[in-house]
Amino acid sequence: MSIRITGISLPNEELIDFTIVDGKWDDQYSLDLDQRIEGWILPGLVDVHTHPGATKAGQPIDEKLLRAELLRDIDHGVIAIRSPGLAGTPPDWFGKDLELPIAFHAGPWLAKPGQFITGWGRRVSDADFPRVAAAQASASGWCKIIADWGVDDEAISLDVMKEIVTAVHEVNGRVAVHSQNEAGSTAAVLAGVDSLEHGMWLNEDLLTQMATQGTALVPTLAIFNQSVERFRTQEPSAKRDWYVGGTERHPHLIQSALAAGVRVLAGTDSGELSIIDEIQALAAAGANPLTAIGAASWQAREFLGLGALKSGQSADATIYRSDPRLDLEILAHPEWVISRGEILRSPKL
Ligand SMILES: [Zn+2]
Repeated sequence: MSIRITGISLPNEELIDFTIVDGKWDDQYSLDLDQRIEGWILPGLVDVHTHPGATKAGQPIDEKLLRAELLRDIDHGVIAIRSPGLAGTPPDWFGKDLELPIAFHAGPWLAKPGQFITGWGRRVSDADFPRVAAAQASASGWCKIIADWGVDDEAISLDVMKEIVTAVHEVNGRVAVHSQNEAGSTAAVLAGVDSLEHGMWLNEDLLTQMATQGTALVPTLAIFNQSVERFRTQEPSAKRDWYVGGTERHPHLIQSALAAGVRVLAGTDSGELSIIDEIQALAAAGANPLTAIGAASWQAREFLGLGALKSGQSADATIYRSDPRLDLEILAHPEWVISRGEILRSPKL
């Protein structure tokens, strides 16, 4: 069977005319054509920060829930995910099942003793952090470090963060760092981590260094915009001011990050939100529609080493009836979802 895909691709408005051969795009014209697909073409959507498979704190991975959440990702056109922290070791099919997204993960969250969600993650001493992080990253490609957790928590020091980054990069792994405090995000950026997750209270003076060394920012705005409401109704406290203030200044930080050339990427951090919510939140924070879409597509794919819409690359695409830059809601209804050459969703006739 031969399928021809034609249309306009983003970000460059290039005219695409491909067939799929052995799971890859091919620009040779095929005469025995069975099907023709037309539309506005993205190289697929990516959720760069998601923890599927467990909802309640301390709960282990539930394979049924994991599969259900990943199938819903495909419904939304999300054909790749990165899980910076999981409730356990994922099953063998995670990332390999052709009907589900390609998946990158960092194993369990790694946190200082006394920090992070009880029942999830591993607690690691400063002395053990570099070795434990490198072992995780050499097993799964990524490790996830909780640089700081609560408002008053001591952050991982710059010295320890530097040792972690050196040890992980030595085994060709990458470091994702959670931070919501200035001390933690400063240590992360100065140590040269690969991605900063959330990044509330990041000192904007560090954005140029982030851009230069390629540290991505994954602000997970939509979930914070949702959860901040709970804090707003609370009595004034240091914790309330920290959470509300950090969320309120985040749109400005994102605008400054984009202006400085930082790679800003889209992550939901919640099974209740879709990647479309995060794309819309980035747009509401001041990213133009093309930039907001790119944060969940070509920018994320390049960051994770996934292919582009080019002949010889993996046949991955989400295809829409009209130009999604005109109305981001269009992204909620992909007509076609193609991953590794397999057509996973097609228009309901
Ligand atoms: Zn998270």
